[in-house]
Amino acid sequence: MDKVLLPKKIEFGENALSEAEYPKNALVVTTAPPALSDKWLDKMGIQDYMLFDKVTPEPSIDDVNALISEYKEKKPSVLIGLGGGSSLDVVKYSASEFGVEKILIPTTFGTGAEMTTYCVLKFDGKKKLLREDRFLADRAVIDSYFMNGTPEQILKNSVCDACAQATEGYDSKLGNNLTRTLCKQAFDVLYDAIINDKPENYPYGSMLSGMGFGNCSTTLGHALSYVFSNEGVPHGFSLSSCTTVAHKHNKSIFYDRFKEVIEKLGFDKMELKADVSEAADIVMTDKGHLDPNPIPISKEDVIQCLNDINSGNL
Ligand SMILES: [Zn+2]
Repeated sequence: MDKVLLPKKIEFGENALSEAEYPKNALVVTTAPPALSDKWLDKMGIQDYMLFDKVTPEPSIDDVNALISEYKEKKPSVLIGLGGGSSLDVVKYSASEFGVEKILIPTTFGTGAEMTTYCVLKFDGKKKLLREDRFLADRAVIDSYFMNGTPEQILKNSVCDACAQATEGYDSKLGNNLTRTLCKQAFDVLYDAIINDKPENYPYGSMLSGMGFGNCSTTLGHALSYVFSNEGVPHGFSLSSCTTVAHKHNKSIFYDRFKEVIEKLGFDKMELKADVSEAADIVMTDKGHLDPNPIPISKEDVIQCLNDINSGNL
């Protein structure tokens, strides 16, 4: 049997944010300062809501507990996560404690988090990647409105992540016909948006990517990227090289078009500071990404990929 989990209602495209309806007595959870969240809430046209804007970036279980202790007695009708990954993650984890549905409204794009059952929270100071069916949104609202004013560098890194997730997801051994359909369509939308300068389609492509890879996994490209993350390289940027060499190594059908997209976006070459063999040892422990890779990966393969990245041989 194959399985795909998706939110019950997905509202997207132009004016989705203002045309969607929000129940009274909702609890809106965000990291954004009032100057910004006021603007967003105004645009949503939401009324009679409660606002919790004390979520810290890279939130921990303490943020979840603070939210629950402050608002559980107030019996919100629904939880709305409005913001980047941090706000969405706190809502993903808390909603079942409140016994209410959750609406996720991403103000950044790229990860497709509004579509997935992943949740990242810190426990005892350590980031943990959790995955449970209960983290799935009941509703998601995706609007390119939030892209206005986003710095070019962040847009580039975000759309690169969405492309990497879609194409690695397509190749994942955990995938099925439906995830491959979604991943392929996601990359087609993103490819067209990048090559033909239609950035307003990035959030839609990223949403499709989340629907696809979120129901299978990413693979070698993401496994390679974390040794660069450890050296402070932004996630999306690291994938520009890592996913390209991974696609070359896997002989992915997306290799040529992925490379084309990376060249169009214009990413700098990267170089690993750490010793390649030691880094390869770290990559090899990442079973979550390597096991679903379409072909088996040895330490020698990883070393070759890292050397290719260092020498710019993409
Ligand atoms: Zn990613």
